[in-house]
Amino acid sequence: MVPLPSYEEALESLLTSASPLQSPVRRPHATALGAEVAEEIRTDRPLPPFDRAAMDGYALRFADLNGGNGLRVIGRIDAGDPTEISLDPGTCVRIATGAPVPASADTVVRHEWTDRGESEVKIESDRVQAGDCIHRTGADAEADEVLFGPGRRLTPLDLSIAAAVGRTSLLVGSRRPVAGVISSGNEVVPSATPADQLGAHQIRDSNAEFLRHALAHFGAHLETVIHCPDEFNATIDALTTMAARVDVIVTIGGVSAGERDWFPLALERLGAERVLRGAAIQPGKPIMCSKLDRTEADPSWVISLPGNPVSVFATSHLFLWPLVRRLAGETPALPWRHCQLGEAITPNPRRRLFRPCVLEGETVRVPHWQGSGDFSHCSGATGLVEIPEGDEKVEAGTLLRVLPWAWEERASENT
Ligand code: AMP
Ligand code: MG
Repeated sequence: MVPLPSYEEALESLLTSASPLQSPVRRPHATALGAEVAEEIRTDRPLPPFDRAAMDGYALRFADLNGGNGLRVIGRIDAGDPTEISLDPGTCVRIATGAPVPASADTVVRHEWTDRGESEVKIESDRVQAGDCIHRTGADAEADEVLFGPGRRLTPLDLSIAAAVGRTSLLVGSRRPVAGVISSGNEVVPSATPADQLGAHQIRDSNAEFLRHALAHFGAHLETVIHCPDEFNATIDALTTMAARVDVIVTIGGVSAGERDWFPLALERLGAERVLRGAAIQPGKPIMCSKLDRTEADPSWVISLPGNPVSVFATSHLFLWPLVRRLAGETPALPWRHCQLGEAITPNPRRRLFRPCVLEGETVRVPHWQGSGDFSHCSGATGLVEIPEGDEKVEAGTLLRVLPWAWEERASENT
């Protein structure tokens, strides 16, 4: 039997298959956050698009303010009303902030400077200047004016500006990878399932919840999470739907050698190129990575993690995190550091162990576990410690590599 690759070899096969995401590419508005925009975003009409009242008050002709005499109020215009009112001399109209100012008016007087009259209004005319409180058409930007352009990393502000000028998609260059999660398993039910509706044979979907948060810390945008039963056709459908939408598909479970572990077969049927299958690590031995061509130049990566929660914690950090960094155009190197083992520990003779651990200063403690299905011992863990394969106990005081979780403070020293 061919020996399984080491962690480094396995990671290398994954990373050599991946280069920073193709660019520029058109992204829907919803998934463009953090990407570098690769086109000019222009106004599609003047901003504001109409003469807009900047205060609640009265729209009038300045020339009609004749020393405090009242003006007749002939109606009101609210935000969202089209302007059809035309003012005759000596008349005015109540107006709300954001409403269009009639063409025949040249000034808006805030109602604090009036007696707020309903049918006739008196105005403190000595406070008023011609043209007050009108936010003029095109005052902020003309039609077809460039608001921002190539090089900008899209923030929520930029996306709001893009939305205001009618852009539902943007051409972006280097960008935050978009990820989707497919959890699997007939026994897996939504994590919000209350205890009285949960069969003893059922498991709440805790992994999807973990990945939802971990992916954000890895630097990916999570587009969607779906669940798929242990059925071949459903697995094919889930992968196909997801591949059309995301750069990285993270599958949970269904990747071991069980009869109902459908991901390997479904990916083969879809013509995916397998770049990694299995690694000499614990947990996470069945890890699988594939490339699924949606278009030749723009594939989806499929990272298939075994379903045990501790496997998901570990393999997502060991494989998914570096992949996301590579796709985003960053260095894939993770912030490993060296720490001293607090208490002696027994290694796995054949596979490198990656155990959730607690960093206490420069010392690392490894909580007792019942294997990779035991996630309850992980509460309070701050990272993963790497324990090389071997037959001898690893003694207290040994220097070991530790990877803090992505959400822990980044170690300053990369090794
Ligand atoms: P699998 O890799 O599909 O054989 O799953 C291994 C173990 O992980 C099984 O005991 C599953 O019930 C559990 N598991 C699979 N998916 C999830 C999930 N999304 N959340 C929590 N546990 C899961
Ligand atoms: Mg399963």
